[in-house]
Amino acid sequence: MSGADAPAQPSRVPDLHVPVAIIGGGFSGAAVAWHLLRLRPALERIVIIEPRAELGRGLAYSAADPSHRINVPATRMSLIPDQPTHFNDWLEATGALDADPAARRSEGRNFPARAVFGAYVAEQLAALGPRLVHVRASAQTVEASGDGYRIHTSDGASVEAEIVVLAVAHAPPSPPSALARALASHPSFVPDPWQAGALDAVRPDDRVLIVGTGLTMADIVASLERLGHRGAIVALSRRGLRSRGHPAQVHEPFGDFATDPARSAGALVRRIRAAVAQAEQAGQSWHCVLDQVRLQGSVIWHALPPPERARLLRHLRPFWDVHRFRIAPQVEEVLDRRITEGTLDLRAASLREVTVGDDAIHVTLRARRTGEVTQAAFDAVITATGPAHGRVFADNPVLASLERAGLARPDTLRLGIEVAPDGRTIGAAGVPVPGLFVAGPLARGTVGELMGLPDVTNYAIRIAGEVAAQLGADEVLGGAARPYASA
Ligand SMILES: Cc1cc2nc3c(=O)[nH]c(=O)nc-3n(C[C@H](O)[C@H](O)[C@H](O)COP(=O)(O)OP(=O)(O)OC[C@H]3O[C@@H](n4cnc5c(N)ncnc54)[C@H](O)[C@@H]3O)c2cc1C
Repeated sequence: MSGADAPAQPSRVPDLHVPVAIIGGGFSGAAVAWHLLRLRPALERIVIIEPRAELGRGLAYSAADPSHRINVPATRMSLIPDQPTHFNDWLEATGALDADPAARRSEGRNFPARAVFGAYVAEQLAALGPRLVHVRASAQTVEASGDGYRIHTSDGASVEAEIVVLAVAHAPPSPPSALARALASHPSFVPDPWQAGALDAVRPDDRVLIVGTGLTMADIVASLERLGHRGAIVALSRRGLRSRGHPAQVHEPFGDFATDPARSAGALVRRIRAAVAQAEQAGQSWHCVLDQVRLQGSVIWHALPPPERARLLRHLRPFWDVHRFRIAPQVEEVLDRRITEGTLDLRAASLREVTVGDDAIHVTLRARRTGEVTQAAFDAVITATGPAHGRVFADNPVLASLERAGLARPDTLRLGIEVAPDGRTIGAAGVPVPGLFVAGPLARGTVGELMGLPDVTNYAIRIAGEVAAQLGADEVLGGAARPYASA
C-alpha cells in the first residue's frame, strides 16, 4: 500500500487531487474505502489520511495486548457482511489461531485477539493495491475549495477532494477532573490505558483503583492478569455495573420492537422487560432480546422524540452498555475468578476527594446506595471511562476547523457529529453540507446504535453507496484524475 510503510517526509510529499478523501483509517474509514472501490471498479484512486502505520486497525484493533480479545465471535465480525464467515474463514486459512488455542471456544466460536482482526482488515485493504493511497499523516484542517475541499495534513501537504468522508471516531478518554487535578504528574496515574505500555508502571502487588467498570475495565484487568499482577483491584462507577458475557447457548434474536415502535423511553423499557419475560418462558435468555433491540436500533431510535432520546441516554445508557457490549468468555473468566478470590471489587460509588500521600494515593469514596463515605489507599489509578466522544470537536483539529467554517456541528446529544439521513454533515445553517460525509460511531446521535462492528460495517456500506452515487462519471472513469503522489 503506497505510503503505508514510508516515514513521512514533509517537504517532498506532493499535493494530491482525488475524487474522494477519507480522514481516519480505522475500521470505519477502511470499510468505506473497501466497499466504495468494490462498488466502483473503475474508480482509479482514493486517499485515506491516517497517521497509524496500517489501515483498518484504528483504536480498537491496534491493541497489542493479546488478552484484548474481540467481544463478539469471529463469525459476526466480517468486513464483508454478505460473506459473514469471511474473517473466520481467514482465521482458519491463515492458521492465525494456531499460536492461541485459548481463542477457540465451544460451538466453534472463536474469540481471537483484537490485533488479529486488525491484521485481517489490513490485509484486505493492502490487496486493493495502488487504488488506495495511504497518506500517513494527521489531517489538521479542512476548508471548502472550488467544488470540493482542501485538507491540510501534519506533513505539510494538502489533499484536494471532491468528496470527504470523516471517519475519525474515538477521542482519547477524559479522566474525571478530581483525578486529573490531583494526579496530573503522578507516575502511577494512567489517564489513557490505550497508550502502548500504559500499565508498565503497575507493580505485581500494587493496590489498583480503576475508574470505570465497563469494557475498558475488563480489558485492563485482563492485561494486569497477563502481566502478573496479583494485588487488590477496586473498580468503581456510578452504578458499579459490569459488562455481561455471552449466553451459554446461542438463540435467534427475540421480540419485535420495530412494529409500532415505542414513542417514549418508559414504553420502550416496558416492552423490553415484557419480551425478556416471554423469552425466559420460552427457555431463552435476555441476550436474544437485546440482540433484537440492537438489530432494530435504528427504527427504535428514530421513533423516539429528541427529549425521549435524551431521557434514554440519561437513565438507561449504563444498563444498555453492559448488556449490549459483552465481553469475551476468556476475559469473563478472569473477572469471575478475581471476584471470587476477592482481588476484584466492583463498587457503585463516586469519587469525593483524591490526595497524594508519601506512601499512597488516598481516595475518598461515596457509596451510591447508602451514601456511606469511606477512604481507601491505592498505589496506582487507571482511567477506564472510555472514549470522550463529547469532546471530539474540542480535541480533534479537523472537527474544530469544520465547526469554525460552519461545515459541521455537534449533535444535540453530544454523541458526535450531527448528520443528515444520507450521512452528510449538517452545517451551521442547519442544512446538509454537499460532499462531506461521516462514517462510524460519531454519527450515532442521528443513526442510533452504531458502535459494534456489524453496525459500523453496515453503516460504512451505506456511506460508500452514497459517495458512489455522488461521484460523476468523469471521476469514476478516472478522467478527472490529476497527479497523485505514489509515495
Ligand atoms: C477499545 C475498543 C474495543 C472494541 N472492540 C470491539 C469488538 O471486539 N467487537 C466489536 O464488534 N466492536 C468493538 N468495538 C467497537 C467498534 O469496532 C469500533 O468502535 C470501530 O472499530 C470504530 O472504528 P472507527 O474507524 O470508526 O474509529 P477509530 O478506531 O477511532 O478510528 C479512527 C481513526 O481515525 C484516525 N484519526 C483521528 N483523527 C484524525 C485526523 N485528524 N487525521 C487523520 N486521522 C485521524 C485515528 O488515528 C484512528 O485510526 C470496540 C471499540 C473500542 C473503542
